[in-house]
Amino acid sequence: MTDQQKIEVLRDELRAHNYNYYVLDNPVISDYEFDLKLKELQVLEEKHPEFYDPSSPTLRVGGSITKNFETVVHSERMYSLDNSYSKDDLEDWEKRIQRILGDSNVEFTCELKYDGASINLSYENGIMVRAVTRGDGFQGDDVTTNVKTIRSVPLQLKGEFPLKFDIRGEIVLPFEGFAKMNAERVESGEEPYMNPRNTASGSLKLQDSSVVAQRPLDCLMYGLVGQNTGISTQWEMLEKAREWGFKIPSTAKLCNSTDEVLAFVDYWDTRRHDLPYETDGVVIKVNSLRQQEELGFTSKSPRWAMAYKFKAEQVATLLNEITYQVGRTGSITPVANLSPVLLAGTTVKRASLHNADQIAKFDIREGDTVFVEKGGEIIPKIVGVDFTKRSPDSEPTRYIEFCPECGTPLTRTEGDAKHYCTNYYGCPPQITGRIQHFISRKAMDIEGLGSETVEQLYQEGLITNYADLYTLTKEQLLPLERMADKSAENLVAGVAASIEIPFERVLFALGIRFVGETVAKKLAKAYKNIDALMKASVDELTQVNEIGERIAQSVVEFFKNEKNREIVARLKQYGLKFSLSEEQLENQTDKLKGMTLIVSGVFQSVSRDELKKMIEDNGGKVGSSISSKTAYLIAGDKMGPSKRSKAEQLGIPIISEKEFFEIIS
Ligand code: AMP
Ligand code: ZN
Repeated sequence: MTDQQKIEVLRDELRAHNYNYYVLDNPVISDYEFDLKLKELQVLEEKHPEFYDPSSPTLRVGGSITKNFETVVHSERMYSLDNSYSKDDLEDWEKRIQRILGDSNVEFTCELKYDGASINLSYENGIMVRAVTRGDGFQGDDVTTNVKTIRSVPLQLKGEFPLKFDIRGEIVLPFEGFAKMNAERVESGEEPYMNPRNTASGSLKLQDSSVVAQRPLDCLMYGLVGQNTGISTQWEMLEKAREWGFKIPSTAKLCNSTDEVLAFVDYWDTRRHDLPYETDGVVIKVNSLRQQEELGFTSKSPRWAMAYKFKAEQVATLLNEITYQVGRTGSITPVANLSPVLLAGTTVKRASLHNADQIAKFDIREGDTVFVEKGGEIIPKIVGVDFTKRSPDSEPTRYIEFCPECGTPLTRTEGDAKHYCTNYYGCPPQITGRIQHFISRKAMDIEGLGSETVEQLYQEGLITNYADLYTLTKEQLLPLERMADKSAENLVAGVAASIEIPFERVLFALGIRFVGETVAKKLAKAYKNIDALMKASVDELTQVNEIGERIAQSVVEFFKNEKNREIVARLKQYGLKFSLSEEQLENQTDKLKGMTLIVSGVFQSVSRDELKKMIEDNGGKVGSSISSKTAYLIAGDKMGPSKRSKAEQLGIPIISEKEFFEIIS
């Protein structure tokens, strides 16, 4: 087989596996096998940029950066939906429709209303060519690169499809993935996201598509746009789109009467809590497209569709006590301890109160009867107080002033809603929290050591920071309660083995505030070793793509601290990896260091995104407009004439893609 054939075969295989896994929810090979095949394809594609394919499964991992999202006008407006809140509303709507159509036999398709971010996908010859957000309904943002990373969006269609059409759907973040993302954020000292919907729409506008690729987004489709599709009903459209490879939830139902529609609404009002993603209602659509056309639109919504909104579930319960948790970074989170109550299918005992402002805003007090609601969030929230039930001798909540764990006075910086305990080295939950983070799976992944053992080792005075782990001996461990010979050995061996963990994960493990997994990777790539990173100033750090002021400050502060420097020095001495490996360095050079390059036009052997990634991998920056500081203009076909003349005017060298490859090779 030639390389080209191999590439084709791998692409087809991976497409099929993607579809099985993400659309059908029915994987036929292991994740490991899948990753191997993907790697193989990546290597071949890198070797042969001439076989570039805009729908290759390798695009799912992202990598290219979008600085500015282009505005695109929708081929047809993306309307809102009219809302109804009662069965009477729905019945009125149906009567209205029957009157306009002069027909009392109207069929309806009922679908769930998925709560996420709307998206319009354009397909040409079966290839996904563009993804645009709803925006104001008339025009939205081009987020194609990011949407390509969403596994359930087919990049290439199957079967027989119209040559050119748009299809619309909702990008959602399922609960499970959302919870996992939040757990990781909390681990790296960041605030958790509030709800899946905002996080889904926020994800579409991230600059770095590889970050989007890591988010477990899903795309559920509901509507086709385009003339001459040969389709005559909404129901048929859903079935056809499913055949072409789109993810269409099987929850939709064709209804012949108002009673059936109402039964569908009733059923899902409670059952929706079993779904893996958030829904906030039902969308009822006239099934016949011919009738839809006859009904047309009002100034803001189609007359042939209606949303029925579910009510957010709310219960009242007693708030027994407000307690305060201290996180790994010293952040204080107030928690409402409630009398257990059943809400949306689960028993709720606790709710987060977020911060002092939240408590003050609702004037929440111990002993109050409070209203608890479960919306898109996983943790229920308190949405108000039943003041009629407040006892006359109740007193306003006084937020704590001292750390409940170590007694240190709490501080609060401007612009931050949270209080912090700054006793970094003396506050027990901060000390153990940092060590627990250090050993966690995504950091040093130390086998034979768990969170509880960390607590135990700390209580016994054997460790006070993560560097101490590397001096533990079997003899020290054996006297501990529940510590058998074998487990002591495993622990010591696990710690010793961790020195093989690569630099970027060691950096993540250090637990620098705001330095999560992705940021750690970026910093490792940019600085290559810890010594360079420790010397970096805030200004230099913010030059690195996606590293903002806040992260930069935190990094500088961390390394300024004498104790932290001492711990890093000890870890180095124990043999942990504090620089990138040879292999990691190989694909990167400094050849373009300090240079800004402009990419313009269409290229033969690589995509623009790939070209941009190559620039960054070699230390350069991708600029957006030509100035006297531009080092090179890489010109492809169809480059705008104004760009060329501007570059000529300023004396900027204009080079071809070939010449660029020579420079970096
Ligand atoms: P609204 O924003 O409340 O006016 O509702 C309109 C939005 O509902 C559309 O822009 C869609 O993104 C979203 N939506 C979710 N599920 C569906 C569905 N099954 N059919 C149509 N629209 C839906
Ligand atoms: Zn404390």
